[in-house]
Amino acid sequence: MKKAPLPLNDSGKIDLSRVRHGILVLTFDDARYETWLPQMDIFASFNARATFFYHGEITAEAADSMKQLRAGAHSVGLHTTSHKDAADISPETYYKEFILPQIEQCRNAGVEDIRFFAYPNNRHSEEFDLYLSRYFSRFRAGSGVKAPKGFRIADFEEPFIALEKLPGNKVMGGCGIGPFYESTQENLDSALERAAQENKVLTFFSHAILPVPHGVHMAEATLEAMLAKAAELGMTVAGFNELP
Ligand SMILES: [Zn+2]
Repeated sequence: MKKAPLPLNDSGKIDLSRVRHGILVLTFDDARYETWLPQMDIFASFNARATFFYHGEITAEAADSMKQLRAGAHSVGLHTTSHKDAADISPETYYKEFILPQIEQCRNAGVEDIRFFAYPNNRHSEEFDLYLSRYFSRFRAGSGVKAPKGFRIADFEEPFIALEKLPGNKVMGGCGIGPFYESTQENLDSALERAAQENKVLTFFSHAILPVPHGVHMAEATLEAMLAKAAELGMTVAGFNELP
């Protein structure tokens, strides 16, 4: 089985000068860790890492899953207590009411230093990005692609970030994977091919990883096919921890 290359420097970040075929950034939202943990062997078999975001109360069980994902070299981040949009509220109040309680719950459960945040429903603004940057080093939001569902990802510029822009690009856009997004394997494959060919960063988001996908959740088979495709193309598959 072909493995994805992961050229890291001494600080554990990707050495961009050694990336030749792009970077695939897979992110998963909504604390569906009961479906994430069983996929850890698949990720490991391709030398791939991902980023997992939690909304809701960080229970002892949720915190334990965060520790397991981190032990498997994956990245974890927050997604608010109640899946509240970052809109129609001040960033200060938003942080205090919907994020800080999660940070405290994490700390009480022994999960420290969470540096990543995914915006619920991908809603965000520069004002929020700026304010929340004092607490988080990187964000996941939407790609800004406003095309109808079923669009061909490779036809848009927005989802692809040039490598040299990555260090300054703290808000990672992304395209959805799952039946709701009409993300066929052909569509995903052609997007990966473009990123590999042009040596660019490509970000996706999904939620649960299921045997039979529905709604905004993706199939286990899709995950495996994407990781195999990325490895075949020589892409790096990294979590937020590794992004410079
Ligand atoms: Zn969500």
